[in-house]
Amino acid sequence: MNHAELSTALLDRFVRFARIGSQSDMVKADAGVFPSTESQKTMAKALVKELESLGIEVSMDENYYVIARLPASPGLEGKESFGLSAHYDTAGDAPGDNVNPLIHRSWGGTPIALPGGFTLDPAKDAELASCVGHTIVTSDGTTLLGADDKAGVAGIITMAEYLLAHREIPHGPIELMFSPDEETGHGMDRVPLAALRSKSFYTVDGGQEGELETECFNAWKAELTFTGIALHTGHARGRMVNASSMAAAFLSSLPAQESPEATDGYYGFYAPIRIEGGIESAKATLFLRDFTREGMERRIETVKTLARAIEARFNGGKVTVETAMQYLNMKEKIDAAPDILGRLERAAARSGVSTYLKPIRGGTDGSRLTELGIPAPNIFTGGHNYHSRTEWASLEQMTKMALTLIELAKEWGS
Ligand SMILES: [Zn+2]
Repeated sequence: MNHAELSTALLDRFVRFARIGSQSDMVKADAGVFPSTESQKTMAKALVKELESLGIEVSMDENYYVIARLPASPGLEGKESFGLSAHYDTAGDAPGDNVNPLIHRSWGGTPIALPGGFTLDPAKDAELASCVGHTIVTSDGTTLLGADDKAGVAGIITMAEYLLAHREIPHGPIELMFSPDEETGHGMDRVPLAALRSKSFYTVDGGQEGELETECFNAWKAELTFTGIALHTGHARGRMVNASSMAAAFLSSLPAQESPEATDGYYGFYAPIRIEGGIESAKATLFLRDFTREGMERRIETVKTLARAIEARFNGGKVTVETAMQYLNMKEKIDAAPDILGRLERAAARSGVSTYLKPIRGGTDGSRLTELGIPAPNIFTGGHNYHSRTEWASLEQMTKMALTLIELAKEWGS
């Protein structure tokens, strides 16, 4: 298998996987259904079949986590094992069944009109503009493409196929994990930690070529309960305290310039997610996001201070604040094991990829894994415009991903 054959195998595998609808469902996942959809089970079974057909040892547990193992090259059995992980569900933000991938070979750089009515315009998409001459894969515009994260799934399996075809490449034991429900935030809820042999993992779930991710938000949720005093509105003067008005006043007291709509890069935010209520009682849910611990403490303190200010304004009203951690920035734990990122950067460089670190304005399976004691930075896949009908992937960038994974295997074997 040479690099051209690797590229062909990768494209074929990616397109086949993209055609298998496997959207996850946030509502069902929050209600405890796992995996949240039947279609994910179909996808998981297809992955088991694919890995078996390549002669790779694979198992699937009752929660549909698929774990495969590549044994070490002869003589390297004692090398430390490392893992690669990708999620096989796709996002619920755009239609995801009956995906019809379209392949635009040697794309010339003109806008790509999708039959479903959407256009990919390089004038409005700098990452697309950087891919003139590439083979671009899109959906037909009626669905998302599912490069998030089937590009990662296909890349990992194609790396394994390549290593099997090139037994002369020395590597240690490698663990491959394919998991459900990343998009619902429940991807690592039932991860079979005891079954994993690797103390270091990489998630293969990023975007633009070269992009590596080692830090994400610290995430907290704040639940506020506003309690008022209900009275007939006809004789409420001076006596009624309206909980809905309290909630509205609280939300409008949040700094507008620290909202998701107004921030990017390393800036955190307060995001009202849900509000409901009546006169006697109202509830508001906020997401708090910040890259630093001190920043997060400040945000929690701010929410409590603003809540007390609302109590002072609405005489007789009460506000309670409950906060809960959702996930943590993985940076501290990844920085504590610099070898994991170091090996990745060397592997990428040897594949001709210039890397850069980018903060994730969200959480990943990798941040959850890191919290559970397995540091897991994130690697680019070559997919773009995730969660939309204009999602696309560059075959050249996907190939660079697979080559980086092959070099990573060599790194861990050396
Ligand atoms: Zn993803």
